[in-house]
Amino acid sequence: MLDVRALNAYYGEIQVLYDVALQVHPGEVAVVVGANGAGKTSLINALSGTIDREGEIHFDGTAIDRLPPHEVAEMGLIQVPEDRHLFPFLTVRENLDLGAYPTRARPVAAQTLQEVLDLMPRLKERTRQVAGSLSGGEQQLCAIGRALMSKPRLLMLDEPTLGLAPIMVSLVFDLIRQIRDTGTTILLVEQNVNRSLALADRAYVLEGGSIVLEGGGQALLKDERLKAAYLGG
Ligand code: ATP
Repeated sequence: MLDVRALNAYYGEIQVLYDVALQVHPGEVAVVVGANGAGKTSLINALSGTIDREGEIHFDGTAIDRLPPHEVAEMGLIQVPEDRHLFPFLTVRENLDLGAYPTRARPVAAQTLQEVLDLMPRLKERTRQVAGSLSGGEQQLCAIGRALMSKPRLLMLDEPTLGLAPIMVSLVFDLIRQIRDTGTTILLVEQNVNRSLALADRAYVLEGGSIVLEGGGQALLKDERLKAAYLGG
């Protein structure tokens, strides 16, 4: 579904991704783990087209590496940014409604809203609350909900559990599993190596802007090199 080859990305003169190759197959959760500054956010931004990049990015067989971000989103490649980008003075419901902007999403927005709220009872109780007054975890749910309103074919999640209380971390990982089970393909970037690899059908380790390890999630969890680098040996 997503096929990335020889991807380089830049902030001005500074190169942050080097020759990245990765694949995401339909219906799976692919995970990219990496430490602070490894380039996880840059990878998602390069795929969305919001930073300078060069290389081959095919989404459903179509080359998207020269498309502007709004066209990439129209095709169903949707990102939930790390800092969530909610509108704090709008209600949860209004924030969700704003997600239904792609042409494919608009006609089915009412039905999608029901599905999203059924998936997230905690959000359902708070549809009239302004987003800025939600807890961090609830804001993350709202950001994921808004992305689901766009009817993603591939949902990219940027460190959705960063800074959340343990109970919300579990809730978000359960939610990711549920979203996958409803048929949405997921690319998750995370620092939480144990939890995210346990969920991953396919996984990559990003270090200094390069993929240094890849394999099945379970296999990588047992990989001695990964254990040494991330799990304390
Ligand atoms: P984190 O978990 O801290 O968000 P990350 O793995 O998502 O880390 P990136 O945010 O992609 O990493 O950063 C990768 C590299 O790019 C870092 O060296 C960072 O300093 C650099 N970088 C990020 N944003 C910019 C920017 N706007 N201008 C210049 N360099 C940047």
